[in-house]
Parts: sequence; structure tokens; C-alpha cells
Amino acid sequence: MNVLFASSECAPFVKTGGLGDVVGALPRKLAQEGVNTAVILPKYKSIDEKYVKEMYYIDNIYIKMGWRSQYAGVFKLEKDDVIYYFVDNEFYFGHEPLYSDVYIDIERFAFFDKAVLALLQVTGFWPDVINLNDWQTGMIPVLLKAHYSHDDRYNRIKTVMTIHNLKYQGIYDKKTISDILDLDDDYFTPDKLEFYKDASFLKGGLVYSDYITTVSPTYSCEIMNEYFGENLNGILNARHESVRGIVNGIDYDVWNPRTDENIEENFDARNVVSKKRDNKLKLQRELGLLEDENKFLIGMVTRLTHQKGLELVDHIMDEMMAQGEVQLVILGSGDETYENMLRHYEWKYKGSVCSVIKFDNSLSHRIYAASDAFLMPSLFEPCGLSQMIAMHYGALPIVRETGGLKDTVEAYNEYENTGTGFSFANYNAHEMLYVINYAKSVWKNNKKAWQAMMKRAMKADFSWDNSAKSYIEVYNYLLGSV
Ligand code: ADP
Repeated sequence: MNVLFASSECAPFVKTGGLGDVVGALPRKLAQEGVNTAVILPKYKSIDEKYVKEMYYIDNIYIKMGWRSQYAGVFKLEKDDVIYYFVDNEFYFGHEPLYSDVYIDIERFAFFDKAVLALLQVTGFWPDVINLNDWQTGMIPVLLKAHYSHDDRYNRIKTVMTIHNLKYQGIYDKKTISDILDLDDDYFTPDKLEFYKDASFLKGGLVYSDYITTVSPTYSCEIMNEYFGENLNGILNARHESVRGIVNGIDYDVWNPRTDENIEENFDARNVVSKKRDNKLKLQRELGLLEDENKFLIGMVTRLTHQKGLELVDHIMDEMMAQGEVQLVILGSGDETYENMLRHYEWKYKGSVCSVIKFDNSLSHRIYAASDAFLMPSLFEPCGLSQMIAMHYGALPIVRETGGLKDTVEAYNEYENTGTGFSFANYNAHEMLYVINYAKSVWKNNKKAWQAMMKRAMKADFSWDNSAKSYIEVYNYLLGSV
């Protein structure tokens, strides 16, 4: 079976969040399971030179974009039994940042979607299944139907649309989209691409793909409702028999506290207690926090967007810091309002709060390794990888019970001594503060229970083993082999 992943991100080449992690890990796991796997992504300027040197040029074609004709080169790199194809075009991908304003991104990813299909003839990798990821690739099944249905090599391809986040949809005006994608008016009706008078890339993927997956079972149910459905719950309900939630895993080759080169002291479940203390003291020094192992260190590593529950943190920050027992480290970048809010709190609580406003992969590893607890109070969370990484590094998560957070964190039960973290149900700042204080009291007063929980969290299975098998099940189902 040949499977091609089309994606706007793929670690280690390029990543801004969980999508990059997933497309970095899942194809490798599928390859280990015997699937011929390839990934195609844009050749962004930000890709590290060391990977660019490993790529080699294959060929190029020209893609019609409205009245223009645009160059599309393709480069290839083979790594861990996966083939990576990079679509080269300086005009679209030769500048920072990765994502831009919607009117720019719509054209960039329209180009990418067209290039993915056209370049199959050049690469010779003919997939049985194309696994699409998020809105940036949503038009691929639409284009397959509109422009390639006469060609048997294309006609037999099945498509799976994986939703990593329903919030981002790639919406723009119909005229522009129909022009750059060469789609006639029939495609722009409310049952197809039209979305409140505009057109939506993601809706295209949901309507035209053969199957839809999303990244946790709870999120797959939540998005059927209006509150989480982002105005797409109608189409998702209509297609509910072809929707499945498959929880993400984490890449143990990348996230392994025993071998991690980014952290000061490597550790495993046997020596986590003493090594976490050492890592904590070193991180406190690195970030200019008060060096004190008796502070309850809470970490956050996150995109700074509305989704991530930063309003709740804002609301209770003063109360949380009042007793002087908590330290908070936040690594994140995103919306300016949150960035400024966090800068303010660092200034106000110098030595106890540290806000690092940037994307820094290496530092993120040290935060997971050093933190006692990891806060993730998301408003919604399709899956969430950070809480799993935190658990694997012995930082107990404090999460809101939504989406993948609900599926992956088992709340502490003090009577039965079970659980791998702490959770609260409502999007309410004081409910969160109550649970933070509860976690802090267990950490401080019941060290035995805390340490046992750290070990349980570290040993929990967040590997891709089961999830990769579920993806293969979906592919086999589509190909009629089950
Ligand atoms: P999302 O995909 O919504 O951003 P996830 O929890 O699924 O959230 O994945 C986030 C991934 O991005 C994790 O690997 C996390 O460590 C990483 N990450 C997020 N923000 C930063 C940052 N500022 N610096 C480094 N890594 C980050």
C-alpha cells in the first residue's frame, strides 16, 4: 500500500505546533508497519540548511494559477524509510513567516494543492491513499474530482482528511478561489464549497474526501455539536459514518528524557525525583528565577491563542502568586495581547514568573523536564501533544476536560491512588485555581503519592503503535481489503 501525506508542516523540517509533530512521527511509524509512505510539503525558506543539503532536485513543472503560470520544482529526501518531497517555489514559500495573512495563504496553498496532484506524474510515487492534513490541503480531493476524474491513475486514489484543528478553515471569496483553482460555479453551492457566501478549503476536504479522521475520540464527538463544530457540524453530522477519532501519539525518538540532548540531566522513571530537582534548579538559573527546589514549578509551552485558555491564567494570576509558593514558566508566541500580558506578569512577579516569548524547541524540552506540573487549560483541544510530552517527562498535567486532554489524562484519585494528572470540567478560572492548589498540596504534603503518580505518568503508553494501526485500518477499509 502506498500512502502519501500532504501537509503544510512536518517535523523536523518545519513545525509550529502539533500538526508538525504528527506528520513528523506517523509516517515513520507507518513505514515501520510496512506501508510505503511519502510526505509532501512546501520547501520553506526556514528549513534548516542541513536538511536542504540532503535533498536532491528531481524535476519541475508549471502550474496554472489564474492568468499566471507558476514554477513548481520538486526535491526529494529519504529518511527513516519515508520519502519526503518538497515543493519548491520562491514566490510562495521563499519568505518568513510560515503562515501569513489569509489572502496570501489562500493562494499559496491553492498552489500547493494543485502542485501535489500534478507532481505525482513527476515523482512517480502513485499513492493508493492521500492523507490530507488540515485546511491547507483541503482542496486536493476537490481538484481530484474536478480535474482528474478521467485519468485512471488518479481516479483510483482514496483520500482521508485529517482534522488537527477545525478552527482554521481557509475561507476566502468564491470568485478568487474559483479562479485560481479553475473550478466552475457548480462547486460553489452550500452543499459543496460555499461557506456563508464565501468558500472554504476545509469544507472542500470534508465534503469531497472519502473518509475523515480527527485526532482524538472525544474531539470527534465534540465537533458534531454547535459549540465545537465551528459551523461545520452540519456536514460532519451528515458524514458521521465516515468520521473517526484516532488519538495522536508522541514520537519517543524525539521525546525521550533518557536520551534527550536538550536537557541538562537525563532521567527515567527510576531516578526522576532527584533528576527533576536538578533540572529544575538549572532551569531556574537559566531563566533568572529564584533558585529554590521548594517552589512548585508550573510549565506551559503553547501557541498563544484564544484556544489555549490564557484568559483563565490572567484571571487568577495574582491569587496564584499570592503565597509565593508557585513559579510559572511560559514559553509561547502568538497573539500580541497574550504576549504583552505575559511580559507584564514577568515584570510584576520577577523571579517567580518567566515569560519566554518565542518559539524555542530546545528550551521546550528543558521546561518539560524541569516542571513539577504542566498547565493546559484549553477552551478546546483536538488532541494536544504537550500534555503527553509533559507526562512522559514526569511533569504532571493540569488540564481542562476537553477533547484529547480528556482522552489522555486520567485525573488523580486520592482514595485509590490512581491517575496521571489533574483536571477540571468547566472553563472557569477559579475552578482551575482550585485544582492548581489541590495539585500543589499533593506535591507538598503527600510526596509519596505525587512521586508514584509521576512514575505512572512516565510509563503511560503514548506511543504511536496503536494509533498507526488504526490509520492502517482506515486505509484498508477504503481500499476494500477488510
Ligand atoms: P497545538 O498543535 O494546538 O499547537 P499541541 O499540544 O498538539 O498543540 O502541540 C504543540 C507542540 O508545539 C508541542 O510539541 C509543543 O512543545 C510545541 N510548541 C508550542 N509552542 C512552542 C514554543 N513556543 N516553542 C517550542 N515549542 C512549542
